[in-house]
Amino acid sequence: MGQLTIKMDETTIKKMKTYYAKSLDKSPQGAIFRARTEAAVITAYRSGKVLFQGSDVNAEANKWQTGKSLSTASAPSQKRTTQQHTSYRPPNSLFTSNHIGSDESGTGDYFGPVTTAAVYVTSEQISHLKALGIQDSKAINDQTVQKLAKEIATLNIPYSLMILHNEKYNQIQAQGWSQGKMKAMLHHSAINRLLDKIGEAPYDGILIDQFCQPNVYMNYLKSENEQVAPKTYFMTKAESYSIAVAAGSVIARASFLQEMEKLSNEIGFDLLKGASVKVDKLIAQIIRTKGKQSLNSVAKLHFKNTEKAREYM
Ligand code: MN
Repeated sequence: MGQLTIKMDETTIKKMKTYYAKSLDKSPQGAIFRARTEAAVITAYRSGKVLFQGSDVNAEANKWQTGKSLSTASAPSQKRTTQQHTSYRPPNSLFTSNHIGSDESGTGDYFGPVTTAAVYVTSEQISHLKALGIQDSKAINDQTVQKLAKEIATLNIPYSLMILHNEKYNQIQAQGWSQGKMKAMLHHSAINRLLDKIGEAPYDGILIDQFCQPNVYMNYLKSENEQVAPKTYFMTKAESYSIAVAAGSVIARASFLQEMEKLSNEIGFDLLKGASVKVDKLIAQIIRTKGKQSLNSVAKLHFKNTEKAREYM
């Protein structure tokens, strides 16, 4: 039994579903369809991933791969992606429709992880979420962030949260990953997990709070053999337009705060947010009492603060 996963675009998946119409089987959760032929079982997921299982998976997969394989992404297929997104800015109608929003937290803080949350909201939930006071987490205090995150949790709104802990952050940073690439992969994973979670639930688009140029985002994904999900949009300050992004910012921030509390307890210091001179002084204190290696599990070591702390040793 062989197994192969390939990323396909929406159009191809639609074509496949038609092609396999007579072989369709019961779809598992998160799948667009599953087909059972003599040679293979083919499962297409909402995330764009298509799983081929069977005796001759390559032959089956090759039917759909004409120059679209990720590892050998050809120029024409790249062009097609660009054309699909002549503008990465979402239509205004997205903000009042069923959609997914994604935002991250902790990227500017020396201590603590980077967290990213993708949230799925339906058009009916939007006014209720607004009434609750869901908004950009940067505009509200920590207590309110935590309170709102709890309220979102009780509403059973589907979301997916990714936490990049400091050890891992420092490890991949040392391997040459920029913070931008880390963020891109976190958003991508959060969105894909959420797409799998919501299954067949309809949505008009996916909105990422823009932190880099969309083509740079695509390149980060490509470098990890990943491809952006169909109908993905980018805009800066997205949390002020999209309640899904705002909810994402609240969930991500609440998780960041919770992790900071855990880390503070573990290391025995009240870890500070941000990257100010106060942080430099605290770093010096931690190094003096716990040693420099203790920072690896609580801090983003490549920040200039690590160096600046020397002034206070
Ligand atoms: Mn943001």
